[in-house]
Amino acid sequence: MRAEIISVGTELLLGNVVNTDAADISRMLSELGIDVFHHTVVGDNRERAKAAVEIAKSRADLIITTGGLGPTCDDLTKDILCSAFGKKLVYNEEAAEVMRRYFADRLPGHQVPVNNYSQAYLPEGCVPFQNTCGTAPGCAFEAEGKRVIMLPGPPRECRTMFRRSAMPYLASNSEDRLFSRFIRVFGVGESRIDELLRPLMDRLENPTLAPYAGNAECMLRLTAKAKSEAEAEALAEPVLSEVRKALGEYIYTEAFSSLEETAVSLLSGAGLTLAVSEEYTGGLLSKRITDVPGAESVFLGSAVLPAAGANASEAAKKARALFGSKLAVAVCGFSGDVSIALAAPDGVFEKSVSLGSDRVRARHAAASHALDMIRRYIMGLPV
Ligand code: ATP
Ligand code: MG
Repeated sequence: MRAEIISVGTELLLGNVVNTDAADISRMLSELGIDVFHHTVVGDNRERAKAAVEIAKSRADLIITTGGLGPTCDDLTKDILCSAFGKKLVYNEEAAEVMRRYFADRLPGHQVPVNNYSQAYLPEGCVPFQNTCGTAPGCAFEAEGKRVIMLPGPPRECRTMFRRSAMPYLASNSEDRLFSRFIRVFGVGESRIDELLRPLMDRLENPTLAPYAGNAECMLRLTAKAKSEAEAEALAEPVLSEVRKALGEYIYTEAFSSLEETAVSLLSGAGLTLAVSEEYTGGLLSKRITDVPGAESVFLGSAVLPAAGANASEAAKKARALFGSKLAVAVCGFSGDVSIALAAPDGVFEKSVSLGSDRVRARHAAASHALDMIRRYIMGLPV
């Protein structure tokens, strides 16, 4: 099933409001295994909205609209969809009653504003969706072999209605769901990963594999379409083992953990303690380590020093002696040229990296290199 989301609202085109509705719905559709092929945004304009619906009709099986359901005159989605599919708008007593109750609860003694009654008109033969956080009901209908779903624009109403009403409506017609696994990689760039895995990625249909570049690291997302988690696992396993073969020691987690979580959990598993000396990272490395719950059991202390061209190996040895830890890492350097050293009972390991001129990114990357050195040391990999 190919889905297209049409978001109606001039504010979206002006850039005043970000189209979070489309993003939210896309994520929820992926849980159902429904592919979204297009996001369209159109202003509150009858002609252009009509044209957008015609295009969607020609290329999608499922059309979902957001916005333009409200009582004001620029709210025109229902009209346009009804005329595109040759349906009449009919008064829906149930929708009117829900609206009466909504106003009675919130504004006792007040009448429903006359304007709002237009919201009780819905396409003939549709399944109405109740709005539990606003007044405009949504709905779904089928016509000409297409499924159409209309949702209100306000993000909370849109999200809630999609989850409570549209998802069950769609799930009853779709058997597959998407299951994702994440593989996080440090020490090989995105282009090298692409080179190594391209033949595999090109050959795959289900599951699919896609790389994402992060800050100094990469993530691979493996997504399987299946009826159950067990079936998804069975599809994913052979692909995972090929990925492991290609990337091996560069994979630091197949769960969702970060580098700092990985390092802390390895330290604690090995019964090792850590000290840090930071000349280049200004405390960032210590911050990332101590962000991890339970870090206090392995982290003995840190020295944050001004950049003075210190030798990283010497700094790591000093920190190890000062805090009495089993391991110590030091990050020294300046303007992107960084040395990172790890002092351990069996020696001192040092490496140098060039991290570019963006200070924020370079510092983050330097801290990541230090965390990865800890990981590699504990796992018995070349540091
Ligand atoms: P309703 O269907 O409930 O009447 P509407 O589009 O007619 O929705 P508006 O008054 O135009 O209602 O918008 C309501 C609020 O929702 C506004 O704050 C608007 O910025 C926001 N909004 C509308 N569409 C989107 C969207 N696609 N993504 C995020 N916010 C949106
Ligand atoms: Mg609107």
